[in-house]
Amino acid sequence: MNKVLIIGAGGVGNVVAHKCAMVPEVFGEITLASRTVSKCDAIAAEVKQRTGRVIATAKVDADDPKQTAELIRRTGAKLVINVALPYQDLTIMDACLEAGCDYMDTANYEPKDVAKFEYSWQWAYQEKFTKAGLSALLGSGFDPGVTNVYTAWALKHHFDEIHTLDIIDVNGGNHGKAFATNFNPEINIREVTAECRHWEDGKFVETPPMSLHQAFTCPQGVGTYEIYRMYHEELESLVKHIPTIKRAQFWMSFSPNYLKHLEVLGNVGMTRIDPVIYNGVEIVPLQFLKAVLPDPGDLGKTTKGKTCIGNVITGLKNGKFKAIYVYNICDHEACFAEVGSQAISYTTGVPAMIGAKQVLEGNWRKPGVWNIEQHDPDAFMADLNVHGLPWQFIELSEEQAKAFHVA
Ligand code: NDP
Repeated sequence: MNKVLIIGAGGVGNVVAHKCAMVPEVFGEITLASRTVSKCDAIAAEVKQRTGRVIATAKVDADDPKQTAELIRRTGAKLVINVALPYQDLTIMDACLEAGCDYMDTANYEPKDVAKFEYSWQWAYQEKFTKAGLSALLGSGFDPGVTNVYTAWALKHHFDEIHTLDIIDVNGGNHGKAFATNFNPEINIREVTAECRHWEDGKFVETPPMSLHQAFTCPQGVGTYEIYRMYHEELESLVKHIPTIKRAQFWMSFSPNYLKHLEVLGNVGMTRIDPVIYNGVEIVPLQFLKAVLPDPGDLGKTTKGKTCIGNVITGLKNGKFKAIYVYNICDHEACFAEVGSQAISYTTGVPAMIGAKQVLEGNWRKPGVWNIEQHDPDAFMADLNVHGLPWQFIELSEEQAKAFHVA
């Protein structure tokens, strides 16, 4: 019987716990751990109520690899699903190596004091995991995660060569608050205020944050939204593993209201990540801001509307131009009814469960450190249809691919 340890009891941890509990044949025994055990207990109670399954809970500070390794041993976990914060990635990887356990996450490691998004720190663990005979799966959320798998699947089934990739993340949901972020505010704001980078002709090109935007019409009546080009971590691994890509860009939708608040918060210094002294105490403005903003985990109750996340991919098949758009549409209210979370946590937590399932079932159990697109996409794509994130794809003409937006 497979035993798993989930670390992190936020919005995503809630979805992962529910979805793992719904697949008992793969996830035999589940422990949910976080710094604040009361959050784990509250999730465990909801899981019991919705699925009838009992999951164990524990307290852990995952910044401490020794403490984390001890918990892994105590629970007998074969796999740790890390849905804490990106700051904990390396200490949890160290703990897995110490305790002899496989590892997976949904976001690349970030140092706390600088908003730097790159895989170098985690890729440096390749030799350690290979030697230990353990698997590490990086980035099994939606983006990164499903968007990488969409790309690998497109390459396997639709293209001989991929030339352009545009990942488009639209959140058409409305939570009814003046300002809130859909996942951890600190991580979200660090990401959207960072310099934009996109891949063009063999190198990353830097441009000011939010400087390029355009309207994008989602399929199936989800609506038309303004999407902004920004850097996102999956670009780094995708252009490395699919070297025929000439241009790769990531786009996310933002409402004028969100951008207005962000601009003001930035102007007054509230998005700073360097410490300031306040009343003799050192505080980081962005961490303080997180404490006063709505908890993303609570937004599910009020959020209405849909997300639409997908990839426009162009390239060659049998020497001819080909273009496809592969995407998922997810309804905030349906997610809340199923697991008590909004769609952003849901679209991250479901692929985390599915990635964990591939590792535990052995499809993706290969010693070393792997980005998700390096594995065979087929079983994961099939599971998306079964476990709540069905996908569709349409073939586009050259004209449509251009009109679809992409700069
Ligand atoms: P939340 O802030 O809601 O939850 C984070 C959880 O991690 C909290 O329960 C928190 O602890 C716990 N935690 C933080 N530090 C530690 C620590 N040192 N030891 C143990 N637990 C700790 O975040 P989300 O649920 O919104 O996001 C979770 C992860 O998912 C993040 O890494 C985020 O970047 C990623 N993500 C990925 C996406 C994708 O598509 N790939 C999309 C959205 C998010 P405590 O119990 O004290 O509160």
